[in-house]
Amino acid sequence: MSETPAVTSTETAEAELLAQVPNQLYINGEWVPAAGGRTLTVHDPSTGTVIKTIADASVTDGAAALDAAVAAQESWASTPPRVRGEVLRRTFDLLQERKQDFALLMTLEMGKPLAESLGEVAYGGEFLRWFSEEAVRITGRYGVNPEGTGRMIVSQHPVGPCFLITPWNFPLAMATRKIAPALAAGCTVVIKPAELTPLSTLLLVTLLEEAGLPAGVVNVITTSTSGEVSAPIIADPRLRKLSFTGSTPVGQKLIEQSAKGVLRTSMELGGNAPFVVFDDADLDKAVDGAIAAKFRNIGQACTAANRFIVHESIAEEFAGRVTERVKAFRIGRGTEDGVTIGPLIDDRAVAKADALVQDALGRGATLLTGGSALERDGTFYEPTVITGVKPGSDILREEIFGPVLSITSFTDEDDAVRIANDTEYGLVGYVYTRDLARGQRMIERLQTGMMGLNLGVISNAAAPFGGVKQSGLGREGGFEGIHEYLSTKYTLTPDPFAG
Ligand code: NAP
Repeated sequence: MSETPAVTSTETAEAELLAQVPNQLYINGEWVPAAGGRTLTVHDPSTGTVIKTIADASVTDGAAALDAAVAAQESWASTPPRVRGEVLRRTFDLLQERKQDFALLMTLEMGKPLAESLGEVAYGGEFLRWFSEEAVRITGRYGVNPEGTGRMIVSQHPVGPCFLITPWNFPLAMATRKIAPALAAGCTVVIKPAELTPLSTLLLVTLLEEAGLPAGVVNVITTSTSGEVSAPIIADPRLRKLSFTGSTPVGQKLIEQSAKGVLRTSMELGGNAPFVVFDDADLDKAVDGAIAAKFRNIGQACTAANRFIVHESIAEEFAGRVTERVKAFRIGRGTEDGVTIGPLIDDRAVAKADALVQDALGRGATLLTGGSALERDGTFYEPTVITGVKPGSDILREEIFGPVLSITSFTDEDDAVRIANDTEYGLVGYVYTRDLARGQRMIERLQTGMMGLNLGVISNAAAPFGGVKQSGLGREGGFEGIHEYLSTKYTLTPDPFAG
C-alpha cells in the first residue's frame, strides 16, 4: 500500500466536502426527498454542532426502496458476473482517489482520529476489491449419483432482494462489507445506515453511481425511526434476506421479526472480547497489542478487547506499562494533528462507560488513570485503566464501548479459559503466549468465532469475520462472505446414457 499523505482539514475544506454529500434518499437510481419532506440532522460528536440536514425516510419511502430493489433483482441477477465485479472494482478505484474525503467525512460524523478514518477507508475499500474478484468465482458441481442412474447438478443462485442495516461505529466499512458481497452474488439491496452516521454511505453511493451501477440495485434510506421503517420491509414477503450489524438486543428482535418470512439472516452482533496474557508472553508485544485492541476507534469496536485477563505474576507490570502508554494519549477533535483519542459517539455512551467504571471501583477495583468524563464541548471520556477488577463487576459482563482498559488476573491455563468463556458473547479473543502448543490449545478452547494469537488487530477482507454464541450468525468477508447471499440448488437429471 502506498504512503498516504496526511489529511488536512480546514473549516472551508469541511464545508466544501459536506456540501458534496447528497442530502436525499437514493431510490431507483434517483436522489429523492423523503415523503412529506421530513428531515433529520447529523452532528459532529466532538463539538455537538449540526453538520448536515438530510432526508428522514418514513414507512412509505422504505416501501418505495424495496419496490425498486425487487424490480431490479432479475436483471441484476442475470448481469454477467464479470460486469457486476467490474462495477465493484471501479468503485474501489474511485474510493482510492477520494480516500482523503471519505476519511475526513467519517471523522466529522463519527469522531475517530483522521489516521484511523484513513485506516477504515483502506479496510472498507478492500471488501469492494475482494468481492469484485469473488463475483466471477461462483461455482457449482456436477456428478454421477451413487446409484449411477442420474446426474446431480449443484448450482448457486442469488438469494434475492436484501435489507442491510449498519451501525454507526464503522460508517464506511460496515456498508461495503455488506453491499459488496450482495452485489457480487447478484442480489439487489436496500441499505439503512445508522441515524448518527449516515453520510459515508450516501457519499459511497455517488461512487457506485459513477462506476455504472444500474438503477434500483442499491437503494439507501436514512431515517430517525429505524424500527418503524424497518419492520414492514422485513415483513414484506418479497424480501429474502436481512443482514444486520449492531447490538445483540436489536439483533434478537430482528431475528424474531425475520421468523415469519423465514428470511435468511446474517447477524454481526456485540462482543465481550477476552485478552489473555500468559506469563511467558512477550510483554512489549502484548502491551502494543493491548493498546491497539482496546483504544482503536476510541474503544467503540465490536472487536475491542473488553476484559484483560493477565497472569497474576505479571499483572502489576502489565498494568503499569499500559498505564504509561495511556497517559501519553492526546485527546481532541479527530481532525487535529496528533490526536489519538476522539469523542465517544454521544452522551449515552459517556454515561455508560462512566457507570461501568464507577461500579467496578465501588466493588474494589483500583483506578490507575482517567475515570471521568471530560469537561469540554463534545462527548469525551478520559482514557482509563482500572485493575484488580472483582468478579461480578458489570464491566466484565457488558460491552464497554469506550476507552476503558479493565484488568483482572488468573492463576493457570484452566482458570484463564474459564474466565475468558464466562460470557454469552463469542466474537473474538486475543491470546499472548510464546508457547505454540498452548496457543493451539487456546484456539480450540476459546468459545469465539475469531482469535488473535499474539496480535491485537485481526480484521481483513479476506477473512471470515463473525461470532458464535450471542455474537451472531454467519460470516462476512473471505470465501464465506459471498455465500451469505447465495442459495444452493440441487437438480437431478436422468442418466444421459440410459435409453
Ligand atoms: P444498534 O443500536 O443495535 O443499531 C445498529 C443499527 O440498527 C442502526 O442502524 C440502528 O439504527 C438500527 N436499529 C436500531 N433499532 C432497530 C430496530 N428496532 N429495527 C431496525 N433497525 C434498528 O447498535 P449500535 O449502537 O449502532 O452499534 C453498536 C453495536 O454494534 C455494538 O454492540 C457492537 O458490538 C455492534 N457491532 C458489531 C459488529 C460485528 O461485526 N459483530 C461490528 C460493529 C458493531 P438507528 O441507530 O438509526 O436507530
